[in-house]
Amino acid sequence: MPVYQAEALILRTYKLGESDRIVVFLTRDRGKKRGVAKGARRPKSRYSGALEPITRAGVAYYEREQRDLVRLNFVEPSRSPLSASGDALGYVGYFAELIDEWAPEAHTDERLYRLGASVTDALATGAPVEPLVRYFEYWLLRLQGVYPSLRRCGACGAALGETASMPPRDTILVCRECAPSGTGTVLSAEALTFLRFATACTPEQLRELPLGDSAARQLEDAHRRLIGAHLEKELKSARVLREMRHVR
Ligand SMILES: [Zn+2]
Repeated sequence: MPVYQAEALILRTYKLGESDRIVVFLTRDRGKKRGVAKGARRPKSRYSGALEPITRAGVAYYEREQRDLVRLNFVEPSRSPLSASGDALGYVGYFAELIDEWAPEAHTDERLYRLGASVTDALATGAPVEPLVRYFEYWLLRLQGVYPSLRRCGACGAALGETASMPPRDTILVCRECAPSGTGTVLSAEALTFLRFATACTPEQLRELPLGDSAARQLEDAHRRLIGAHLEKELKSARVLREMRHVR
């Protein structure tokens, strides 16, 4: 049985049998894998604390011929979201679910891996969470080639000015002249400035640009629509996060 070592991001786990777990993880160089972690649900398991969503870890696993499931040999966390603040922890499931949805099976996507890893690092070093979430969504959509242009109106091709809007039944950004008044998702000057800044900055640099509540809601709404259009569903964790905010 060939054994592989890789840098990986843990995405999620589920129960297997009496005491094991199946771990879904994204490797930097060999795509997404599913592996059996033997005894991971026992109280003193060597995997305890290592399998939280978006943990960065070194992993070793055996690949078995003709089997989709690999067998994990070890998972050594190098950076864990558990060191992030309480607010941020609510989001780790959302980050992981998005990466899981977008990571192709057994197909390498190093840029996606690097985006996920940079988010784990930013969370662990206390980057502001809300801007980080909007940044992550923006880049995820951009890497898939589905983020609309921030420079040109998707309807008439004119340069987009300070504000833009996403029409109710389309996922393009249009200029003020093309926007039917008061409908769709409006992106204010603050929201557009944030996106243009995000295009060229690292997650750590996000603290240099404050993101107000209303601009954050505009981006959340636009991104929810883009993600929904491309995955053709709403993510469970996104719904939970929205409901949490309404309760507060
Ligand atoms: Zn236009």
